[in-house]
This record gives sequence, C-alpha cells and structure tokens, in this order.
Amino acid sequence: MSNPRNRLNFSGGPGALPESVLQQLQTAIQCEPDTGLSLLGISHRSDWFAAVVQETEDNIRHLLGVDRDHHVLLLQGGATQQFSQIPMSLLRRDGPPADYLHTGYWSGKALPEARKEGPVRLLWSGAEHAFSRLPDDHELDYAADAPYLHYISNETVEGLQFHRLLGRDDVPRICDMSSDFLSRPIAADRYALIYAHAQKNIGPAGVTVVVLHAPLLDRLPAELPSFLDYRSQAAAHSNLNTPPVFAIYTVLLVTRWLRHDIGGLAKMAEINAGKAALLYRVLDEGADFYRPRAAVADRSQMNVVFNLPTPALERDFLASATAAGLSGLQGHRAIGGLRASLYNALTPDAVATLATLLHDFRRRH
Ligand SMILES: *Cc1c(COP(=O)(O)O)cnc(C)c1O
Repeated sequence: MSNPRNRLNFSGGPGALPESVLQQLQTAIQCEPDTGLSLLGISHRSDWFAAVVQETEDNIRHLLGVDRDHHVLLLQGGATQQFSQIPMSLLRRDGPPADYLHTGYWSGKALPEARKEGPVRLLWSGAEHAFSRLPDDHELDYAADAPYLHYISNETVEGLQFHRLLGRDDVPRICDMSSDFLSRPIAADRYALIYAHAQKNIGPAGVTVVVLHAPLLDRLPAELPSFLDYRSQAAAHSNLNTPPVFAIYTVLLVTRWLRHDIGGLAKMAEINAGKAALLYRVLDEGADFYRPRAAVADRSQMNVVFNLPTPALERDFLASATAAGLSGLQGHRAIGGLRASLYNALTPDAVATLATLLHDFRRRH
C-alpha cells in the first residue's frame, strides 16, 4: 500500500523508486535478513556483497540481452566522471577526433570535458534550434576513423529522446543513458560502452552503471589511475575500493523488480509509452494553452517538457500541483518552464492524476 502522505515524485532526478523496493530497503536498513546486519554496516568484502554484485551484473545483462562479452561495472563519480573517463581512456592527442553530438544541456557538459583530453569533432549541434529537436540521419556524416562516437540517448533537461540507434558499426558507439537506462529494450550488443548513473531510473545517487564490450579494454592506454581504469574495475568486480553497498543493493532490488514484477524491458517500455502518450495527449488537446517543447518525432517518454502562456501561469500551475500532492514539476533551472519526469517507478495512476490536473487547470484559465 502506498503511504497516503507520500507526494508523487515527478522530479527530473533523483527519481521515484518502486514502493516494494522502498519497503525492502526499510527492512534491510534495520536488519538485512540473510546477514542479520544493518544494510548500512555490511562489509563490502563479505560473500553476501559479492553475491549482490554478481546478481546485479547478471540481471542487467539479462535485461539488456547481452552475454559475458559485456562487463557490467558499478562505479562512483556519476555520469560526470564518465564525461572525463571515456576520453581519458580512448582519445589520443595526436590521433583523429572523436565524434560528439551536442543535443542539449547534458551533452553540452560532456563536450568540454572531452576537449580537455584530446581532439573532438562536433558532429551536430542543436544550438541554432534552441535544442528543440534532434538531427535526422541525413544531417549526420559520421567519420570512419573516429576513435568513438558519443551521444546522449535522452536529453533530460529538454525532453528529447532518440528513438533509433545512431552511428556506424565499425566505430565504437558510446552512449549516456542516464535518464532512460532500462526503460525500454535497446540493441545493447551494438554499443561499445553504455553508461548511466542510477539516480534517475534505477536507484539512488552513488552508483553509475557502465556496460562495456570487452574488446574496448584492449584500446586503453597503459598508465591510468586504477580507479579510472575500466580494466582494474572489471577485474575487481567493482570492488577495487569501498563501493556504495547501499546504492548497489538498491539497484539489485530494482533490477529484480524489472525482471520479476514488471516482466522485462518490453513490458516496461509498454507501460512507459502509455504514461507518456496520456500526458502528451492532454498537452496536445490543450495546444492553445500548453506548449510542449520538443519536436513531435523526438519527444521523450521520460521527460515531458512544456510551457504555459506566461511565467505567472506556470507559477500558478506549480502551486496547484503542490497543493494536489505532486512534486518536482518545475523545469530545470537552465531553461525554466515545466517538466514532468515519468521514470520507470512513477505509476500510471500518478500520471493520470497529473493529466487530470492539467486538464482542469486549462479549463479554469
Ligand atoms: C543528470 C544527468 C547527468 C549528470 O549526472 P551526475 O551523476 O550528476 O554526474 C548526466 N547525463 C544525463 C543524461 C543526465 O540526465
């Protein structure tokens, strides 16, 4: 049963977690049943934790449909650390540039970090469209000799999502999936490296999942700090130094929920598509009042970003939402407006509550 005092969490991140996961965590913080210890005090060198890591790795591989050619790493430092760790691993100062897409706020953060490490080519930028759309295939002229292609599958701030695979199969594809990881099936075996921090779709802050195709490890330079070396992290099963046991255990519970309660990523995608369709329908029906930000073809199923006719009406709407028990609907501070984030654990009922509020608010104004 959901706690009636809990506000519905539409925040861009950290996001909602499944009710059943929160209940298991509540118990485990007091006394994790298998060990008789508080989850917060279980050793990362215990057999229990080794089994937690193993099952988490296996669940993620199973959900993505990849085999043991793909390492699953559970790292710290967030997506931001990956903005640097990837070019530190794969860019050479005297080599050809990596291809980067600039499709919104977060890819705009990744680019300057890569430029500190080596040559980068801006393959496409959405700046002149105020990041309201993504490129078509004919706008993307991929370099055949790039050490890798980097893009973001879902721009969390602008609410833009790629609904197709980018790149060419002979250039390693690297993708930041922080805000849509495990929200839908993907062709995971066609990526060299996928990364996603946990705090939007699959857990709390503190752990970042990296799914890495093993042959990529052969391209790394010899000298890297061990903490930033995917080889040492893979060899240590993410237990090179003290890992965030709580965060990793939460990811395990969420991946169990995805596999056994939801029934896999195709089912999850169906639920997520239904939630997003309901919200976009209400916005489109009120097109004289609501202005969805993203081009229709590139609309995100995770982050629905929109404006009202005036900032004053947006403030009124947020006040009504707060009064109705809905939280986190203000847009990102970089662009303002409103944003409803519909991550995996946000229920269809919660979305229906928001849809009703949107409908009624427009009628009142
Ligand atoms: C939130 C977000 C980030 C930032 O992640 P940190 O873990 O805070 O470093 C990076 N990329 C995307 C796509 C995001 O949504």
